[in-house]
Amino acid sequence: MGRHIGPVCRLCRREGLKLFLKGTRCDTPKCAVERREGVPGMHQFRRSKASEYSIRLREKQKVKRYYGVFERQFRKYYDLASRRPGNTGDALMALLERRLDNVVTRLGFGTSRPQSRQLITHGHVMVNGRKLDIPSYLVRPGDVIKIKDREHSKKLATDSLATEGMPPVPEWLDRTATEHPEGRVSRLPAMQDISLPVTPQLIVELLSR
Ligand code: SF4
Repeated sequence: MGRHIGPVCRLCRREGLKLFLKGTRCDTPKCAVERREGVPGMHQFRRSKASEYSIRLREKQKVKRYYGVFERQFRKYYDLASRRPGNTGDALMALLERRLDNVVTRLGFGTSRPQSRQLITHGHVMVNGRKLDIPSYLVRPGDVIKIKDREHSKKLATDSLATEGMPPVPEWLDRTATEHPEGRVSRLPAMQDISLPVTPQLIVELLSR
């Protein structure tokens, strides 16, 4: 009998691509796409051999969906990364990882990037003591990310922190998960801090043409 998967995961399976719609589960081996080998069913993953172009394109789509950014914004990150010394792909990933909505998720104050984005735009998040409602803000070392000192705000974050299966906080961030959740950026993220399985070089090859 086929393994039951919910409608959200079904979307990923139809696309044959991880869309990261289920928060904590998506980064784990429980993900329906990760487990697709051996899963029975007639219509799943009927893909012909992918072209070099489509492999690169899918890698870009995966990263865009994971961080929840649109094409124009993604190009801006790419342009910024290509002007940085060193590896452009790694610089691109590091920039995306520094987005405030991603950092709020990494700290566990939101269970998914869309939820964290909502926390930010609804004014529940403070950076360095001031309300910051811009999800694309790029954090810097030393930045302190705090949940607003209001019962409702703190409850939203503590509920997320208590969710089962939340991934550990990455090494480039510190977290104090008390009644008043707070996090600090201890350094800039590097490629090894990024949990998404991705080959950024493929994206660079696509965009540098
Ligand atoms: Fe489900 Fe995996 Fe898609 Fe997340 S990435 S929604 S766990 S199939």
